[in-house]
Amino acid sequence: MLQRTRDGKSKTILVAGGAGFVGSHLCDALLARGDRVICVDSYLTGSTENVLPLKNHPKFRLVEKDICDLREIDEPVDQIYNLACAASPPQYQADPVHTMMTCVAGTGNLLSLAERHGASFLQASTSEVYGDPEEHPQREDYRGNVSCTGPRACYDEGKRAAEALCFDMLRAGRADVRVARIFNTYGPRMQPNDGRIVSNLLVQAISGKPLTIYGSGEQTRSFCYVTDLVAGLMALMDVDPNPNAPVNIGNPGEFTINELAEMVLAMVPTGSKIVYKPLPTDDPQRRRPDISRAKDLLKWEPKVALAEGLQQTADWFTTALGEATSRRAP
Ligand code: NAD
Ligand code: UDP
Repeated sequence: MLQRTRDGKSKTILVAGGAGFVGSHLCDALLARGDRVICVDSYLTGSTENVLPLKNHPKFRLVEKDICDLREIDEPVDQIYNLACAASPPQYQADPVHTMMTCVAGTGNLLSLAERHGASFLQASTSEVYGDPEEHPQREDYRGNVSCTGPRACYDEGKRAAEALCFDMLRAGRADVRVARIFNTYGPRMQPNDGRIVSNLLVQAISGKPLTIYGSGEQTRSFCYVTDLVAGLMALMDVDPNPNAPVNIGNPGEFTINELAEMVLAMVPTGSKIVYKPLPTDDPQRRRPDISRAKDLLKWEPKVALAEGLQQTADWFTTALGEATSRRAP
């Protein structure tokens, strides 16, 4: 029997960026709940492969479209999740102007769609809005330490501008908007070449290449498994009343990059060694979410420990890389 959403009705939900890493897991979860899903994606950093198993699902529709130009999309929807934006530093810096336009013009287009159809809107914001934080852990009322001229600005200032737009629409009563500040997330379907730390280290270990650590490796991050993140995003979209404020969604466990590399080396059978490379400009030194607000308002907290999630991700990459190699073989 079809499962129903909290208010008993099956919804029509637009997921922008739904063919990406997080977006494809969100599409899975919404369809499993019984919702109809319209996935809008330009395939900039995502791919049809991520949503291949959903292609023939009767409630799933895939639309190839850049959110910077949404003119042809104007149909009734109940909810809009905006996940469309490259998230890995090398990828969002490859075309920084497009990244900024995606954050501002693209988010603006989706907010207008939400306004026209009375849809609830969830913006995938980021811990990057805190920049290189001077307060630790980061609470939502911390205003951040961000460079507006550096190479990360297209993304972190873009996401800050998108948040400003979201809260202006909310204050004006033009749309029911929710903002999730997502901390580093990992799991199956990250692209092997995406350049983020978890995918880089696992792919390097599995293929016997040196594990690249930028800087001293003593910088920290907090890693959330993707299914935990998706549960948090859905809880934030559906919670009543609207929190009217951003909510951190992440795993408060904090690890140095050196510790993460040691975990990978202990987990993956490999002869790989660590090599140290220069630290990129404006790379934040530490990051850990204070998730009191999510616990309090959403009754949400992550369930998957890093060791467990990393093992599942390592297993997925081992299979995915093996299949890619056998496809290339004559
Ligand atoms: P991803 O790169 O795998 O997915 C992004 C998706 O958006 C891709 O499918 C891409 O093709 C699509 N996209 C990009 N620009 C677009 C545009 N202009 N029009 C239409 N589609 C476009 O990244 P992800 O890790 O799945 O991240 C999803 C969202 O969550 C992003 O908005 C990101 O900023 C946010 N976020 C992710 C993390 C994380 O650690 N994964 C952390 C903080 C915030
Ligand atoms: N990093 C690293 N080696 C890599 C990729 C990343 O040491 O091969 C570092 C990076 O400099 C940063 C941390 O790992 O300090 C997390 O990087 P990621 O790109 O995953 O996310 P973000 O910097 O956006 O948090």
